[in-house]
Amino acid sequence: MTIPVFDGHNDVVLRLDEGRSFLEESSEGHLDLPRARRGGFAGGLFAIFVSGPEQGDMGGKPDGPYSFPLAPAIAPEVALARAEHLEEILRALDAEGAIRLVRSAAEIEECFAAGMIAAVLHFEGAEPILLPDDLERFYDRGLRSLGLVWSRANKYAEGVPFRFPASPDTGPGLTEEGKQLVRMCNRLRILIDLSHLNLRGFFDVADISDAPLVASHSNAHALCSSTRNLTDEQLDTISGSGGLVGVNFAVGFLREDGMVEPDSTPLDTVARHIEYLVERMGIECVGLGSDYEGAAPPAELGDVTRLPALFEALRDRGYDDETLAKIAHGNWIRVLRETWGE
Ligand code: ZN
Repeated sequence: MTIPVFDGHNDVVLRLDEGRSFLEESSEGHLDLPRARRGGFAGGLFAIFVSGPEQGDMGGKPDGPYSFPLAPAIAPEVALARAEHLEEILRALDAEGAIRLVRSAAEIEECFAAGMIAAVLHFEGAEPILLPDDLERFYDRGLRSLGLVWSRANKYAEGVPFRFPASPDTGPGLTEEGKQLVRMCNRLRILIDLSHLNLRGFFDVADISDAPLVASHSNAHALCSSTRNLTDEQLDTISGSGGLVGVNFAVGFLREDGMVEPDSTPLDTVARHIEYLVERMGIECVGLGSDYEGAAPPAELGDVTRLPALFEALRDRGYDDETLAKIAHGNWIRVLRETWGE
């Protein structure tokens, strides 16, 4: 039987923006409805990401470690234009009853039971929040998860530039506006996503927030010393809060050498990160955060239809059905219920 997966991060909304269909199977990318059904992909955080005009290629150079400077803060007009597209995207996500925007853990479970995909609206970077009132406006439209930053600075915080090998301690912590935004998220019970945030920003959120700490798509720095990954101290802080880490399938955040080489990265590399996180944090604190449609996964996990192969690899490492169900969806639903309060 296919294990249903609730996944911490995908960028399929970007592909819908590019004109790809979600309902029809594509030979490109990683995620669409027919493939989701075959692989057991049952829902997750669907990211709204505002790319900058200067984005460029984020991939690794073939001949060694990679490093990119911070892109300048995104222009407010880009964010505004993106916000205007939001309703359109929501309609696309809601297409033909195959997928539903959910606002509570109970609604996720209803979707699981009905065979519909449960989509949580997530902002990867708080650039669309220009004014404090905007957060509540987006909340009313369904926003339930917010990453303060992508890998760049904005008026709230600093994201890590993509560097390897390097520490995530890349700059200052949250601005006063960032601290205020964390408190507003707590008040509205919006999940605060720590992935992409730098080390000092991470610990600022840990000090302020009263919710379980969550990094939706990050890995263990001890196994792959990318700025995007979490140090043992960060992992301990997350587990101490009853939070969760969603394991990222991006090969550059998995491999010991930091190289972006999907074909030579075994699926077992993902299993190794899961095992490390489980040993460090406990079985309740580990989920998935594939980054499908946003990054290059190992070839053996080349799209959502391959998810069952990951569970087979974990079974080979001694994980039983109950444990696999926690990693696949149970832990995510628990943390979301605690954060959202319903
Ligand atoms: Zn990301």
